[in-house]
Amino acid sequence: MMPYVNEYDTPDCKTLAETAKKSIRTPESLGLDRCIQCGACTASCPAARFTDYSPRQIVKKVLENDHSVLESEMIWSCFYCYSCNVRCPRNNSPVTIVQVLRQMAINEGIGIEKLGYFLEIGEYLAENGASKVPGAGIKNMERDLGDRWIGMKKNLEFIRSELGLSSRDIRDTHGEVQAILESTGYFEREKWIKAKIQEKKVNGFLKTDCSNNERKSGDFGFESDREYTGQEAFTI
Ligand code: SF4
Ligand code: SF4
Repeated sequence: MMPYVNEYDTPDCKTLAETAKKSIRTPESLGLDRCIQCGACTASCPAARFTDYSPRQIVKKVLENDHSVLESEMIWSCFYCYSCNVRCPRNNSPVTIVQVLRQMAINEGIGIEKLGYFLEIGEYLAENGASKVPGAGIKNMERDLGDRWIGMKKNLEFIRSELGLSSRDIRDTHGEVQAILESTGYFEREKWIKAKIQEKKVNGFLKTDCSNNERKSGDFGFESDREYTGQEAFTI
C-alpha cells in the first residue's frame, strides 16, 4: 500500500486540469483555463533556454488531458524559480502545475528514482534537525560556484567571528524535527520511496542497494554520484 498519498495534493479528479486546479498547492485564482499559449512562460524559463523543456507545452498537455505528460522527462526539468509564475499574463502558474504533475507521477512510481538524490536531505534532517547540501551536490556546486564558495563554506565559523557574528546556532532540535517528520508520515513515505526505487531496478541506473548502510555520504549509487563518492556534506 502506498502510504500518505495526499488526496489534497493530487485529488482524484476526472481531468489533469481539474486535479491541478483542485490541489491544495494551487491558488483558486489560477488562470489555467485562461492560458492563451502565448509562450511568455517558456520565453522566461531558464530551463527552457538550455533544454527542450517548455512550460507552455506542459500547460497545453494538461489542458488536453494528455496523461503522457506524467511520463515525460519535461516535468523534471523545472527548478522552481517561479519566473513563469510572475510573467504569465493570465495568472497561470506552470510551476505549480509541474509540482502537482510530479506528485502524481511519483504516486504512480514514475520517475521516482529522481528522488534518490534528495533522500539524503531527509535522512540528515531527521538525524540532525538541520538541512544540508547532499554530498553528491557539493562537487557540482564547487564546479558551478567556484572554489571561493567552498572556501567560504569551510571557513564559515571563522568568517562569522570576523564579522562579529555568533557561532551558528544549530540547536538540538532534532527531537522536534523528528516528531514533525513522524507525525506527517515522512518516514513511511521515505521507506516507500526507497522500496519503489529498488523495485524499479533500472539496469545500469542503480549501482547499489538503496538500503546499503555502508554507502558513503552522498553516494546513493547514481551516475552523477559516482565521481563524487564520500564528499563531505555541508550543513546549510
Ligand atoms: S505565459 Fe501563461 S498564458 Fe502564456 S503560455 Fe504560459 S501559462 Fe499560458
Ligand atoms: S519555475 Fe520552472 S517552469 Fe517556471 S520558469 Fe522556473 S524553471 Fe521554468
